[in-house]
Amino acid sequence: MNYSFYATLVWGWMAIGVATFFYLLRQDAPYGRHTRPGWGPTIDNRLGWFLMEFPVVVVFLLVLTRSETPVAGVIPLFGGCFLFHYLHRSLIFPLRLRTAGKRMPWLIVFSAICFNLVNGFFLGYFFAHFADYPADWWTDIRFISGQVLFWLGLGINWQSDNILIHLRKPDTTGYSIPRGGLFERVSCPNHFGEMLEWTGFALMTWSLPGLAFAVWTIANLAPRALAHHRWYQAHFPDYPKARKALIPFVL
Ligand code: NDP
Repeated sequence: MNYSFYATLVWGWMAIGVATFFYLLRQDAPYGRHTRPGWGPTIDNRLGWFLMEFPVVVVFLLVLTRSETPVAGVIPLFGGCFLFHYLHRSLIFPLRLRTAGKRMPWLIVFSAICFNLVNGFFLGYFFAHFADYPADWWTDIRFISGQVLFWLGLGINWQSDNILIHLRKPDTTGYSIPRGGLFERVSCPNHFGEMLEWTGFALMTWSLPGLAFAVWTIANLAPRALAHHRWYQAHFPDYPKARKALIPFVL
């Protein structure tokens, strides 16, 4: 596939991401607290998370290792960041969740597998065939600021998910008001952190598939954070008034 055809596909994929953003603003994705009947057969929540997230590891590695030129320079680091996130998300995160007995629709699992496979393919293909970074990319401001954002975002995401997971005693499934960390400022710092992370990845890789992945992450998570925020306000009369939904002091 030549770059021009590849780029057309990625732009098309990004356009679908933008459309998805507007769709999700009107229709809350039906998993977690927004689960509701009418979305077809369901699957155990933890198994669903594993099935949604693990295939991207396989596809990314398969595509990347078919490169005809050695994968060198900054590219192994980019691949390492991507795989680090997804190995945690697919293998460790599901085991830590306290969602005993909860289920999610197969439709969500299937959509997420497609989303991850397409992103994993586009990123792996870019690194295997088109990426061409100068030798001094390590000192480029885009690389450095992207790295800072990526690890900062990952830290916020992990810390916030950790706080959420520990709100429940094992084998319970209720909800309470999260406190501590960035929860003092926003309802969904885990989503905010994830958005920072992939924005950083887009910046450090300075690539079209990196941008597409960041756009898709925002498309998935910004509407979800707004929906969570509304849900907290509707369910907890004492919900902190100054807390924003997603971006501290802004939104
Ligand atoms: P949520 O914040 O909805 O839930 C995270 C976990 O914490 C769930 O197990 C949830 O339980 C539990 N939880 C949340 N709030 C409370 C509360 N107030 N009291 C008790 N337990 C609570 O996160 P998501 O499920 O949306 O996402 C999980 C992770 O996956 C996040 O890190 C997110 O950034 C990432 N993600 C990334 C996407 C991307 O496009 N890159 C897309 C979607 C998610 P329950 O499930 O029962 O509600």
